[in-house]
Amino acid sequence: MEGIKISIQDNIQIIEENVEKALKRSGRDGEKVELIAVTKTIDIDRIKEALDYGIVNIGENRVQELDIKYEALGNKINYHMIGHLQTNKVRNIINRTRLVHSLDRLSLANELDKRSKKEGIITEVLLQVNVAEEETKFGLEVNEVLSFLEKVLVLENIRIRGLMTIAPHTSDEEVLRKVFRTLYNLKEDIKSRNYKELSMDYLSMGMSNDYELAIEEGSNMIRVGSNIFGKRNY
Ligand SMILES: *Cc1c(COP(=O)(O)O)cnc(C)c1O
Repeated sequence: MEGIKISIQDNIQIIEENVEKALKRSGRDGEKVELIAVTKTIDIDRIKEALDYGIVNIGENRVQELDIKYEALGNKINYHMIGHLQTNKVRNIINRTRLVHSLDRLSLANELDKRSKKEGIITEVLLQVNVAEEETKFGLEVNEVLSFLEKVLVLENIRIRGLMTIAPHTSDEEVLRKVFRTLYNLKEDIKSRNYKELSMDYLSMGMSNDYELAIEEGSNMIRVGSNIFGKRNY
């Protein structure tokens, strides 16, 4: 193929530098932001290249693809389920993920809990929040989160570790900041309630187009695909 050769190594380095700068700009110097390389549609060889350059977390949005990557790459790296999860697919990912970012309904919580119990494990999850209330996106509405969370707290084999959102596809900085700030404030609100069965360690927000803004607004987990691997071919 013609065109500019993509250097995965350079891309990762640029992102890491941008993360540091964004942290500095927002007075969070020295804090950590976890970079999840989003590997959907990306073949194994290119993922291996990213792993060679320090990537330890990969994100997939489809169960079938996560399975393929898991079979090929094994359990030395961390898998993140970042996409909509069908209840009947839960058994395929159980015990394979470090974090499920897309908990958005009680039926899914129950299934994750049931399967985790069977395996004798605790599955860690983030609540996906559809902050901008976009029709096309999954996730809880902001005002549903507290009541949902209290229903999930009684489930012993899943543990809530934070919140996740996907911002609208826009370059409007104010719109994006508002979404990120809303999720941050929600996280702080939940934290202040001191539920002992959960923690609010992770705020998963920011993708290729908006991760710097997300960090400035408090993100500590970013999910970046095309800025590492180039444009995806579906
Ligand atoms: C694809 C995807 C990403 C990464 O998107 P890029 O714009 O390529 O960085 C992040 N989060 C979710 C949930 C995704 O599906």
